[in-house]
Amino acid sequence: MAVDYYATLGVRRDATGDEIKRAYRKLARELHPDVNPDPEAQQRFRNVTNAYEVLSDPEKRQIVDLGGDPLAPGGGAAGAGSPFGAGFGGLGDIMDAFFGGGASRGPRSRVRRGNDALLRLELDLAETAFGATRDITVDTAVVCATCSGAGAAPGTQPSTCSTCHGRGEVQQVTRSFLGQMVTSRPCPRCSGTGTVIEHPCRDCSGDGRVRKRRTLTVKIPSGVEDGMRIRLSGEGEVGPGGGPPGDLYVEVSERQHAVFTREGDDLHCDLRLPMTAAALGTMATLETLDGSETITVKPGTQPGEVIRLAGRGVPHLRAVGRGHLHIHIVVETPTKLDTEQERLLRELAKLREEETPAVVGGASGGSGLFSRRRSGRRSR
Ligand SMILES: [Zn+2]
Ligand SMILES: [Zn+2]
Repeated sequence: MAVDYYATLGVRRDATGDEIKRAYRKLARELHPDVNPDPEAQQRFRNVTNAYEVLSDPEKRQIVDLGGDPLAPGGGAAGAGSPFGAGFGGLGDIMDAFFGGGASRGPRSRVRRGNDALLRLELDLAETAFGATRDITVDTAVVCATCSGAGAAPGTQPSTCSTCHGRGEVQQVTRSFLGQMVTSRPCPRCSGTGTVIEHPCRDCSGDGRVRKRRTLTVKIPSGVEDGMRIRLSGEGEVGPGGGPPGDLYVEVSERQHAVFTREGDDLHCDLRLPMTAAALGTMATLETLDGSETITVKPGTQPGEVIRLAGRGVPHLRAVGRGHLHIHIVVETPTKLDTEQERLLRELAKLREEETPAVVGGASGGSGLFSRRRSGRRSR
């Protein structure tokens, strides 16, 4: 069950930030370990501090209000996948401020998890659509072979830090609204590790890792999209002191295609037709992702009409089926007519009784030529 942080602080669920702060100060004065060394009071003080830490943070307070517990390991508002949970950072610092570090915190390990790495991979539309296997070269940190990640020159050992005597922390007395407090911070000389490498390994300068170029084979699934990231677990940087490696993310960057624009898994292109071809009908050959396809344009095709080739788009990522290919008709009006062409067009206009179609139409009434814009995509 979730802890009732409101009850712990003795405030209503609709308490303001100021009320929460006042309630916390009042309780903290009573229960602070400097004032009240009783173990039960200390436990209550921890609980009260937890509650304050949660309720003074709008994001965490929201989790509580949604029935979750931001301090539960891995437990956020809506269960797994929550961005909150175990990665909670601020509380340790507050607790250290009150309890002066002390027994619960020893020197920290020199060994830490490595950083994630990110690499961009340019792919053609055909490759993002149907998948690809690529060799990529990455330049990341790997464990130093000379010292096996320890950082000390072979045959030597790190020695105890003389500043913090191996505790990894130094303490400081400060004043605050609670009165005098002992705060501790990581020892600046040994960065909190409690030990100092007097004779660093020459190859890695004591870091325990070196940079190295490696070649990896990455498999791109079909249907990926520009900006998507593929995670290669454990292929990132090795951590300091030979710590476990982070992950490598390969970000897909899709090259612009000469003909198609992509919208999700659908593809779009324009088909530019001379006015005569739109009127008389024609055939055109289109190079689709699946090869040549003959497109039939019916006589009397209008500008803006769309010919849809079902299933000729991009395959859905990790799902059955494909998007569609949309061919948008663009009708081109001839701009340069020679004398003979103009004569023929005038002849045609005469035959179709379209010689003077520009009847004046206005606000007072329609002429038959003007009308309201048709609703739909193209009139917007
Ligand atoms: Zn080394
Ligand atoms: Zn130290």
